[in-house]
Amino acid sequence: MPRPKPLRNADSSGTMKLTSFLVQRDSAGASKGKMHKEHCYPAPEPVMAETEPDSVSQQSLEKSGDTTACDNNSSASQSASSCSSDQDVCSSFSASSPDIGKFFNKRSSLTDGDVFHILTNHWKPPSSYQFPLPKGKKQGRRCQRQWFEQFPWLAYSTSDDGVFCKHCVFFSSCENLQVNFVGKPFNQWQKALEKIREHGDTGKHRDALMKSENFVARMKQPEAGIDVVLDEAAAAQIEKNRLVLAGIIKIILLCGRQGLALRGTDDDGVLGENNRSNFNALLKFSIDSGNDTLKQHLQTCASNATYISKTTQNNLIQIIGDEIQSQVLAEVRDAKFFSILADEVTDKANWEQLSLVLRYVHKGEIKEEFMTFIQCEDITGETLANNILNALREWGLDIQNLRGQGYDGASNMSGKFKGVQARLKEVNPKALYVHCASHCLNLLCFESLQRATSEEHV
Ligand SMILES: [Zn+2]
Repeated sequence: MPRPKPLRNADSSGTMKLTSFLVQRDSAGASKGKMHKEHCYPAPEPVMAETEPDSVSQQSLEKSGDTTACDNNSSASQSASSCSSDQDVCSSFSASSPDIGKFFNKRSSLTDGDVFHILTNHWKPPSSYQFPLPKGKKQGRRCQRQWFEQFPWLAYSTSDDGVFCKHCVFFSSCENLQVNFVGKPFNQWQKALEKIREHGDTGKHRDALMKSENFVARMKQPEAGIDVVLDEAAAAQIEKNRLVLAGIIKIILLCGRQGLALRGTDDDGVLGENNRSNFNALLKFSIDSGNDTLKQHLQTCASNATYISKTTQNNLIQIIGDEIQSQVLAEVRDAKFFSILADEVTDKANWEQLSLVLRYVHKGEIKEEFMTFIQCEDITGETLANNILNALREWGLDIQNLRGQGYDGASNMSGKFKGVQARLKEVNPKALYVHCASHCLNLLCFESLQRATSEEHV
């Protein structure tokens, strides 16, 4: 005989998983020692580049003697001294819109200032830009503009007609430098979307992204200590994650309040036209209404961390339920005395489910709050009474403060000797039994209608 389903546990794995999402600090700490300290000029404000990549300033960079950004012969220290002694080089660089394709595999020869400038000012294709067709072809697939909105980490290189991951180019821990997006441009446009998503899902990309964000934050606030910058970056990430979860939780709460099922049997996870569950429809509505945080999250998150799967929905429902339950219990403890209402019903899987409601007075108002369903092995008075007593014990409610019991008139509930009410009275004689008034009304209506119908036929 299967065991009854236990009551909700606030320390479910779902809670743990979601908590880790909220407080993830990633590997930022690990990158502390690897960050370069030298930078030869104040960090420039990031600007949107809307012109062609500035090849002139790139040439001036080469002519002026600072070849560090263009070849790999100079060391980082040479680059730093070059910048500190030649402000013209730095200023010409900071005014340009560098093509990221000229800098991959050159991290060691770039100053931190150079990297910051490339990350924040790299060339972006303007709206009028026509992406070229593959070399030597008159038709075929080409780079698509919307990919850059969908994946903010992508950067286009005109010199290669390819895309890079701007974070991995400078911060990847990948040992193989010939990897697409990192050490060589990606331009297999037929498989682009699949490969771009694949790269965005890798742990090494996420690690590089976090290092890059920390780096940019440190460069923007050079006066702040590294710990402060890392804490701020982590706090910003946590805040962003909270906003994402808040958007998802609000949809679940709305469905709960309106009595809407979240999904059908096969509507899991993917947000698309074919998935028409209420949850996904509301998610889409929220994004279309301007929830950019949620939009960006779903466009860039790893496929196993969307936080919209049925598993996450169920975890969130349980967490919300636990929270509501704890608030109700706080009110009941505050009221001290309480009553219970219970009834059992057979579910679709032929299991007996005992629904349990608490009735109490809170701030002068009578409240009746549903607490839980308890799966029962059978529906004898003894089993049901034990389940109720166990639930009250688990919630920390004193059975001696029970003042009323309301059930239907079935003998297993209302029986004077072996019914639930009699067994609870054995424990606390002050727990008076009242035949549930709503159930009486239901019986009355049913009987009246039945008689009215039969008289009509006569
Ligand atoms: Zn990457």
